[in-house]
Amino acid sequence: MNTGKINVQTENIFPIIKKFLYSDNEIFLRELVSNATDATKKLKALASIGEANVELGDLKIEVEVDKSSKTITIKDKGIGMTKEEVEKYIAQIAFSGAEEFVTKYKDKVDKNVVIGHFGLGFYSAFMVAKKVEIYSLSYKKDAKAVHWECDGSPEYNIEEISNRVIRGTNIVLHIADDCEEYLENAKIEGLLKKYCKFLPVEIKFGTKKEWVDSGEKDDKGEDKQKEVEVDNIINNPNPAWTKKPTDLTDEDYKKFYHELYPMQFEEPLFHIHLNVDYPFNLTGILYFPKLSNKLEMPKDRIQLYSNQVFVTDNVENIVPDFLTLLRGVIDSPDIPLNVSRSYLQADANVKKISSHITKKVADKMEEIFKKDRAEFEKKWDDIKIFVQYGMISDEKFYDKAIKFALVKTTDNTYYTFEEFENKVKALQTDKDKKLIYLYATNVSEQHAYIDAAKSRGYEVMIMETGLDPHYINHLESKLKDVSFVRVDADTVDKLIKKDDNTISKLSEDEQKKLEPIIQETVSKEQFHVIFENLSETDAPMIITRPEFMRRMKDMNQMGGSSMGFNMPDMYNLVVNSNHPLISRILNEGDADKQKNLAKQTTDLALLSQGLLKGESLTKFIKRSVELI
Ligand code: ADP
Repeated sequence: MNTGKINVQTENIFPIIKKFLYSDNEIFLRELVSNATDATKKLKALASIGEANVELGDLKIEVEVDKSSKTITIKDKGIGMTKEEVEKYIAQIAFSGAEEFVTKYKDKVDKNVVIGHFGLGFYSAFMVAKKVEIYSLSYKKDAKAVHWECDGSPEYNIEEISNRVIRGTNIVLHIADDCEEYLENAKIEGLLKKYCKFLPVEIKFGTKKEWVDSGEKDDKGEDKQKEVEVDNIINNPNPAWTKKPTDLTDEDYKKFYHELYPMQFEEPLFHIHLNVDYPFNLTGILYFPKLSNKLEMPKDRIQLYSNQVFVTDNVENIVPDFLTLLRGVIDSPDIPLNVSRSYLQADANVKKISSHITKKVADKMEEIFKKDRAEFEKKWDDIKIFVQYGMISDEKFYDKAIKFALVKTTDNTYYTFEEFENKVKALQTDKDKKLIYLYATNVSEQHAYIDAAKSRGYEVMIMETGLDPHYINHLESKLKDVSFVRVDADTVDKLIKKDDNTISKLSEDEQKKLEPIIQETVSKEQFHVIFENLSETDAPMIITRPEFMRRMKDMNQMGGSSMGFNMPDMYNLVVNSNHPLISRILNEGDADKQKNLAKQTTDLALLSQGLLKGESLTKFIKRSVELI
């Protein structure tokens, strides 16, 4: 037996590893099973190029927990290590055998065969183990088996042994007293399912009982079932994203969605299969989920893998923000894993990946839009949040999406922006040649205004989500000579300002005389009285919410009232100077009667907007009864 010293600069490396190497000590299992996977794939790769003359046999990796000896063992039947290799690869922290393997075989073997990059993964074992043993037998001809052990101090023991005859490596972890939770089968199975669910080599964790056909028939002539013990295989070594899109049906994609998210019962709207190998390597499948209004279970997020090893489900900075609500997997060995998020954001590869994903998503949507417009319209209400968010936040996405983003009108008809422009151009261009797009944020509350607009032949789009105000602002900055105006922003005649040639029945003096009488009926802070020359058949008074003031208020509210106060709702009380009732109010000689009449007319306008409440409403009803 020899004794050696781990070759590191500082004696105190272990406490550092234990505490800081990974924030989560549970990843030791991912690291060790990944190493076992690498070792197995390396052997397969060598065998395939004739460098290893071995019977591959059953290459399953096994994980075992032994509560009585307080150990976890990870067994593989991969390439194994000789004594020299253990000393070189294991004893020299940060000397990554993986890197060396890739350099040596780089022309012959796909570099993505190998997961490890950092030469530190193995040492994560010391985050949970007080002692680690390695038993290994290399695939090489006449190799001698080796045993290595280390108790977490920089000293280790290594010796050649003769009692190991199986090729491959066993890693035995003697679990530390403060980590005994890892000796629970359920805990380890949970971790394997989290990190190793799609590793490319089968992983066995104990056995399980299963019912199968016994081959015999019962009395009724039906197949008899029998219970058998089978290997409990944790993973699916060939997940859908590693296959070619042409080999997969829609059903396969749906099945995989449910494999990823067993608790999701709703079907995804559509999927996007990602497959790039230049200038970076990336595969994956993204799904557009049907988002419910309630908050989504945070665990159903996009999962990030590196060569089929689960890394995280926090894809912030890798996937553009507007797509983080998608589901699915992204697998890329080119995403640096052991780096901080801020570094990630600056990484050139990651930037390319993010813009590639954006482009793919846009292309896929365009494809569905072109191929099956009806289907696209059906999905629009569910996907529009992604599209709008994307258009607001990503210039390139906007340029693509403006061609297929839809406008939904109050008649439930869908138009592209181009179609919509052509449809409304003739009637909805104002005197300054500006296109006015009318919209409603609440179809039932704004019903009267929508009706009035439609009676003029105008189209009204529906913009009812919380994102819509931002979307509108953005569209106004992008579309040429277009203004968005809410249907209740003005009286229908003034919504789209044309040349004004109607004549007022009231002179300016008369208007001045009437104004204070009407202003008296409503609060000065909230209502601004203005006269307009509407038609005799329009209502005598109409309440409108000027676009600018309303947007100010909406913004103020969205910003959590950052101005420190709550802006009041501001309205215009528009008096139709051509309506006979207005002339009657003006000409009423009895001051009380005049006041009453004015009040009654204002209240009617308020009532039609649902603004008449409480005491005012009671008074209005009483007054109405008296008048009748
Ligand atoms: P990395 O995997 O990032 O290279 P590790 O510290 O996890 O770093 O492993 C160091 C090296 O030790 C590996 O590159 C590999 O050569 C060797 N090694 C680790 N585990 C095994 C194993 N189960 N079978 C064969 N070789 C292994």
